[in-house]
Amino acid sequence: MVTDLHHLLDLPPDTPGPTRRLAEQIGSVVRAATAGDTGTAWESALPCRRRPANRACLGRMIVLRPEPNAPIQWQCSGCDDAGVISNWADSIFDLRRRSLTVADTAHDLVIPNEVAAALRDLQLLDPDGERLVFRIRAHDDGAVLSGSDDDLEDLIGSVAAEANHEANPRRRRQLNAAFDALSGATATGR
Ligand SMILES: [Zn+2]
Repeated sequence: MVTDLHHLLDLPPDTPGPTRRLAEQIGSVVRAATAGDTGTAWESALPCRRRPANRACLGRMIVLRPEPNAPIQWQCSGCDDAGVISNWADSIFDLRRRSLTVADTAHDLVIPNEVAAALRDLQLLDPDGERLVFRIRAHDDGAVLSGSDDDLEDLIGSVAAEANHEANPRRRRQLNAAFDALSGATATGR
């Protein structure tokens, strides 16, 4: 499947659900591919959206950004779903760093998949926070969040702020669970 990202931006309000969900998934793949390493394929924590034989595919999205501005390649680790995304550079989903930064020591935290999903849903993250959340990798026991102490502290602050303002009880529970998982993991050492 070849997707030109430009065709999925600014969808009209009457766009059917399947196209809308595809656009969301493609946007997430671009964010993962631009947040993570370039030149090497890696397995992100993004779940597959397919339901072969009416059962959710348990695969994760493997993404590869070959070189700046070349099309992003993706494939599912569980089924044969795969594709290429062009025209992603400088879109709203492009999370590549704009400047060089000194990398602090990063710690790996293993978190449940539901927590990774709640983090991807955060609405108020800045680009640094989004980069942290979209480079979460797949892991046998859930997902791996990798960041410096400062990164994690900022992320925990964002989760707490959003939980405080969330009116929907279900979403607030998810955010509180994410807060507990992150603050517990950073407090107990790694
Ligand atoms: Zn799949």
